[in-house]
Amino acid sequence: MNIVLLGPPGAGKGTQAKVLARQVKLPHVSTGDLLRANVAEGTDLGRQAKDFMVKGLLVPDTLIQEMLRTRLGRDDVGQGFILDGYPRTLRQAQALDDIMSQFETQIDFVFNLKASEAVIIQRLSGRLVCSSCQANFHRTNMPPKAADVCDACGGELYQRSDDKEETIRKRLQVYAQESAPVIEYYRCKGALHEISADDDAHGVLTKILALIGSHHGSLKV
Ligand code: AMP
Repeated sequence: MNIVLLGPPGAGKGTQAKVLARQVKLPHVSTGDLLRANVAEGTDLGRQAKDFMVKGLLVPDTLIQEMLRTRLGRDDVGQGFILDGYPRTLRQAQALDDIMSQFETQIDFVFNLKASEAVIIQRLSGRLVCSSCQANFHRTNMPPKAADVCDACGGELYQRSDDKEETIRKRLQVYAQESAPVIEYYRCKGALHEISADDDAHGVLTKILALIGSHHGSLKV
């Protein structure tokens, strides 16, 4: 089962993808996480991608495509994946279809998580990420037990450099420009499910699981 999560930054794609991945036992593939790992390791790809990421701009397709193809070709993806952060443009949606054809599979579900701008800014400007296991926390909505320390692994929490309010607005602008055709693309294919993501994370997950369950038998949170 191959699942794509669409939605603006801050809609909760990463949070949902992580929980959903555990629930349906499929790997969570995040192009943002893959890129940040490349930046942290100082690879060629990371060096080229970094400037775009810091400014809240999309990294060019030429850099991302091979990274994703390689990731989706790994053994752990045999039963499917939860893809978060890709596709962000129509060209990427078409490139993903090419990768799916190459692996003789298809996208089964596309969930479009919709959130209002006020909720997005509140979520992202307070978000804290674990530098070790990438778990997400929030200064007020979901604070860690000890300041700046990950509850799960004890790693140090940090604020992403692109989670500053000015960069968040740029990312939302880029999303608004690029995403509409992607949503239409999947609507036309009949794979799109729209979900309000202003609710708390558990409520959103329940809706996603209900939709998957209605096609694949019952799944409970
Ligand atoms: P995310 O963690 O999904 O918010 O992504 C963080 C940043 O990584 C984005 O603002 C982009 O600079 C870059 N990025 C992630 N996924 C993509 C993608 N599919 N296409 C282009 N850039 C991406």
